[in-house]
Amino acid sequence: MSNVLRNIPSVNELLESAALRKLMERASRSVVVSGVRDFLGNLRSEVQSAAADIKLPTATELAERIARWIQHEEQPTLRSVVNATGILLHTGLGRAPLAEDAVTALVEIARDYASLEVDLTTGQRSQRIAAVERLLIQLTGAEAAAVVNNNAGATLLTLAALATGREVIVSRGQLVEIGGSYRLPEVMQASGARLREVGTTNKTRLADYQAAICDDTAALMHVHTSNYVLEGFVESTPLTDLVALAHREHRLAIDDIGSGALWDFGRYGIGGEPRPQDSLACGADVVLMSGDKLLGGPQCGIIVGQRACIDAIVRHPLARALRVDKLTLAALAATLRLYRDPDTVEEKIPLLTLLSTSVDNLQLRAERLAPQLAACPAIAAATPRSDTTYLGGGSVPTQQIPTWCVALTPAHESVDSLAARLRRGHPAVMGRVHRETLLLDLRSVFARQDQLLVKAVQALANHETEKAATSATGPPADPPQDAS
Ligand SMILES: *Cc1c(COP(=O)(O)O)cnc(C)c1O
Repeated sequence: MSNVLRNIPSVNELLESAALRKLMERASRSVVVSGVRDFLGNLRSEVQSAAADIKLPTATELAERIARWIQHEEQPTLRSVVNATGILLHTGLGRAPLAEDAVTALVEIARDYASLEVDLTTGQRSQRIAAVERLLIQLTGAEAAAVVNNNAGATLLTLAALATGREVIVSRGQLVEIGGSYRLPEVMQASGARLREVGTTNKTRLADYQAAICDDTAALMHVHTSNYVLEGFVESTPLTDLVALAHREHRLAIDDIGSGALWDFGRYGIGGEPRPQDSLACGADVVLMSGDKLLGGPQCGIIVGQRACIDAIVRHPLARALRVDKLTLAALAATLRLYRDPDTVEEKIPLLTLLSTSVDNLQLRAERLAPQLAACPAIAAATPRSDTTYLGGGSVPTQQIPTWCVALTPAHESVDSLAARLRRGHPAVMGRVHRETLLLDLRSVFARQDQLLVKAVQALANHETEKAATSATGPPADPPQDAS
């Protein structure tokens, strides 16, 4: 063993190799040097813990292996992904992709200084959300608006500003959990407001709210059950009735509508998504929603409603802790502007583009892609197939969206292995495993990405060589390839 240790080349010796000298032209010297040290550290512990002597590769081969390992380690973990899961608002994949206009605005504002809190006309200090607020008022008919980090933040801040130390009445049928870390009762507790649950899981009547109102009641809250439906023996109180009761009793009516659809999703067969303008028209004092769900913008929480409520909300100390930066505001304003032209909104907001793509178009693309994918060495068969998918991202789980997929059968490996290798590839591709096939669902793939799918699958040719990129003594790894 000690012999093997002694035969490991020195850092300096390795740095003289062609492979690492070449790498230093692209990566900084310090990154390469510390990468070599880390790799050799791993190698020494592998040698020491091995039962038998390990056969060291030649110095040249070792250097090449280290170069590949450093390249592998240097890849950013946050990368762009081709979403072939079919789930349009995949929280794991960052929900809505941004419109080109939003990207342009974001980049421009990112690169330079910006008039974030300066009114360029008067030179006076201004509110950072002034420009977005005007758009939100125009689009929803609200008196005022505020924007914070996300809808969880919007809920926390609203309750803290309007109901701390007092009670907020919510139906037991509407105590939602979204994606594990958001649970309305917990957010409410963190805000300092007290949850007063009324009704039962399946039925809450107006009389239940009425009976719960007391001196301590600050607000009645309505929550959209975004990610579940109650069916069967059920009854809930319509928002109009809830608002009327709240106002008769001089309390606030708060409506968490979740997705924040500014568009009619009924035309895609997705019914029942509340729109902020409708909720305000019902008389809700404050309406809460996400910016990166059906609205198709950046992650943020949007609060619209009565001027007095919004003023109290933005003055609360938590507002500063939850405020959004110039990048979010630039992207949100650019996204909202697109909604002012109904003729082009489907073409310009990527989420709407994907949703409005015809089934015929998806079928055509699936039929065109299938033979190209079938010709790839890693694939035994590729078949176009019609299927159904969902919006996802905590939205409408029961409403099916028609789609077309290409079903891939792997040539030499399990379907899970194929899925994992595509996920680790360049570009990363995420599909949906269904029984013995990997489905590439075109509902969530932009037409401009079709050929990327083919390249990503082609790049899988050599599946033996990819493994163990991080093992010092294991089989050599392929360098990361850029198929774009
Ligand atoms: C998604 C959702 C939330 C949480 O929104 P985030 O923007 O993810 O924080 C809260 N309430 C409802 C009803 C939702 O649908």
